[in-house]
Amino acid sequence: MEYIGIDIGGTAVKIGIIDENGTVLASGHYSVNFDRYETPILDTVVKSLGIFLSKYSVKSVNLKGIGVSATGQVDIHTGVVTGTAGHIKNWKKSKIKETLENRFNLPVAVMNDANCAALAEKWIGGAKEVSNAVILTIGTGIGGGILVNSEILTGSDGLAGEIGHFTIHCQGKPCTCGNTGCYEQYASVTALIHMVTEAVDKGLFPKSAFQDGPINGKTIFELLAAHNPLLESIFEEWLDYVAFGLVNLVHIFNPQLILIGGGISVQETLFIKPLRQKVHQQVMPAFGKGLSLKAAALGNEAGMIGAVYFYKKEFAKQTLR
Ligand SMILES: [Zn+2]
Repeated sequence: MEYIGIDIGGTAVKIGIIDENGTVLASGHYSVNFDRYETPILDTVVKSLGIFLSKYSVKSVNLKGIGVSATGQVDIHTGVVTGTAGHIKNWKKSKIKETLENRFNLPVAVMNDANCAALAEKWIGGAKEVSNAVILTIGTGIGGGILVNSEILTGSDGLAGEIGHFTIHCQGKPCTCGNTGCYEQYASVTALIHMVTEAVDKGLFPKSAFQDGPINGKTIFELLAAHNPLLESIFEEWLDYVAFGLVNLVHIFNPQLILIGGGISVQETLFIKPLRQKVHQQVMPAFGKGLSLKAAALGNEAGMIGAVYFYKKEFAKQTLR
């Protein structure tokens, strides 16, 4: 018996058939923003899942259930989207659990995507052997999950671990969440690109260094690898922000492990190693003892894998009750 794992993001929904061990046996992805969300995402998800199941000739009776990882704030008890940090039209109030259960006649468990990605690392990834970890995905924004005594920290409704939106500047930049000075406004890849673009616009940095190409994560790391001193100083400033946030988290949660996910986590020499050094320099010595920091093990299938793990844990709990 297998499971369906679904990862609903802002641009696409990924769907996979996943076995008891977390192996993805087949997967597909479908656009959710093809008409700028005029078609509600949940309608697209229902339609896509129907297409996916018939493509692989999978019948509901042969499946155990569906685990869903979803963007935004999702109430784990009701499976309803209760909030979003950005502005995705027709998404808030979507009844994911109820809709999918009725349509596909299978039990469904839903959790926010960052917590699902963290759970996947605990199940089959880099946090398998540890009980206390902070798992952070650095990309367009910052997402995260906190592992406490081998369980994901859910808070009262499953919203805990919204790491991108704790404030590190009390009068800082406005954020999509409505607050100001949020961590992701300073420590995401988007923030790094802004810092470099700003330096270029102010004439502090020659655009020619990028050979008139785009300024993005990839080109920034290419230039860093070539030891551009001005870019190195901007990068250092950005890295300080990333480290400051992590030091706060270490002092609050006392993890054994910090896992960094997202495309840039493959940059061991330029990013992970100096970040590890900064965090170790800044935490109180007792917190640094035995603390490791490394790149997350799983890629973009983490959301759907973690969603299935969450499903398994939820329904195991119900059987015990
Ligand atoms: Zn925010």
